[in-house]
Amino acid sequence: MTTTTASSDETVDADRFAAVLRQAVADGLLGADQPVAGFIDVDGVRATVAELQAAFVPAPPALPGPTAPPPVLHTFAAKAASLIPVLSLLADLGLGCEVASPGELEIALRAGFAPATIVLDSPAKTRREIQQALALGVALNADSFAELDRIDALRPQDCSSVIGLRVNPQVGAGSIGAMSTATATSKFGVALGDPGGRAEVVRAFEQRPWLTRLHAHVGSQGCPLELITAGIAETHRLAEEVNHAVGRQQITSLDTGGGLPVNFDGPEPRPTFAAYAAALRAAVPTLLDGRYQLVTEFGRSLLAKNGFIGALVEYTKDAGGRRIAITHAGAQLATRTVLMPDAWPLRVGAYDGRGRPKATAAMVQDIAGPCCFAGDVVAHARELPELQEGDIVVLHDTGAYYFSTHWAYNSLPRPAVHGFSTDDRGRVQFAPVREAQSLQQISLESGLAHADALLGLGLDAR
Ligand SMILES: *Cc1c(COP(=O)(O)O)cnc(C)c1O
Repeated sequence: MTTTTASSDETVDADRFAAVLRQAVADGLLGADQPVAGFIDVDGVRATVAELQAAFVPAPPALPGPTAPPPVLHTFAAKAASLIPVLSLLADLGLGCEVASPGELEIALRAGFAPATIVLDSPAKTRREIQQALALGVALNADSFAELDRIDALRPQDCSSVIGLRVNPQVGAGSIGAMSTATATSKFGVALGDPGGRAEVVRAFEQRPWLTRLHAHVGSQGCPLELITAGIAETHRLAEEVNHAVGRQQITSLDTGGGLPVNFDGPEPRPTFAAYAAALRAAVPTLLDGRYQLVTEFGRSLLAKNGFIGALVEYTKDAGGRRIAITHAGAQLATRTVLMPDAWPLRVGAYDGRGRPKATAAMVQDIAGPCCFAGDVVAHARELPELQEGDIVVLHDTGAYYFSTHWAYNSLPRPAVHGFSTDDRGRVQFAPVREAQSLQQISLESGLAHADALLGLGLDAR
């Protein structure tokens, strides 16, 4: 939802939200025929991008001259919402795009990002991927010295790509191990604290005058601001050290990654981009002094609060003294929430079949999904208005990752995703982002073209 500060705005947000849900039901985007769908708040995305851009306005004016690069390039981490209309909106708002696979690069290009505003990060780039990125002029961050060796061999003479090296400042883990990229043994980047690590980084720059960027992505969910800014401070120190050693400003940009955590406990974002930028300025006062172009790669913090999932309650039942609502949103959509409920708790809203907030008495309920395994529960023992068949549950703050990291469990279809906007008079407009996956598409993905392929295999030899 749009982020606001005044105290009455939470009700404004709630009213706006209820209007969107009512209209979605009235328009048939959610209901018996479409029992689950995703929604993206386009007004909210615009506001969040503006907040990000405002937070990083550098203190001194931009460098003069027509060829001076913009001092800050904010890229969006495509994996957080790999939907072309969303990427296209972000490109239109002036963002670049961080990609990490041939698929993400393809959709970023199709969404309209100029190659020079795309950054390719991946720990497993093939020679072909490196070659393609360099031919297009896409920036890339090498994840290891071995990858730098490949780039040495593949880099054309007239290469326009900005090339960087990803380092791991090894500042430690946050509260979720699987989301911590800067542990001592993380698979990402060059481990700075390992014996000889720093000296080898300096040497790598000395040997390659075209290597001009240093990259670190310290995050993400579960990592406190101090950990993230400590990682960036360490990266900045290293850049100064390299430039001093080579005797010129060889490193001209710092890619500080994304990884700003999102609070899932309420509508107001915490920490804000402004708080992040302030913490960064405090940790590295000279970061935005104009000597380094800054690149960021935020994903979750740009989209999470700007999307929600709506799902129909198909049945309710009681088991072992617990009320359970069986809905159409489970592990296929909220995979991390179902598999790691303590790390990824979601706020759940209860609405009736017409999209009006439920006013029934509160009771403790499990909100379960449609998947055929016992753990498919998105919210355990949650106190909510009593739900019944035909009601709608809303999973809040699911605009990042939930629509782009579908799990094909039980051949459940990827749901439709719709964008929405509201005007001053409360009117709601929708636009399609992605159609629901059809049974034909599921069949095709399931090898339909080779339906008989196994029937004769091996029979001749017997
Ligand atoms: C995933 C990722 C990001 C975005 O992380 P968020 O936590 O969504 O902000 C940025 N950079 C890299 C290299 C990533 O892998």
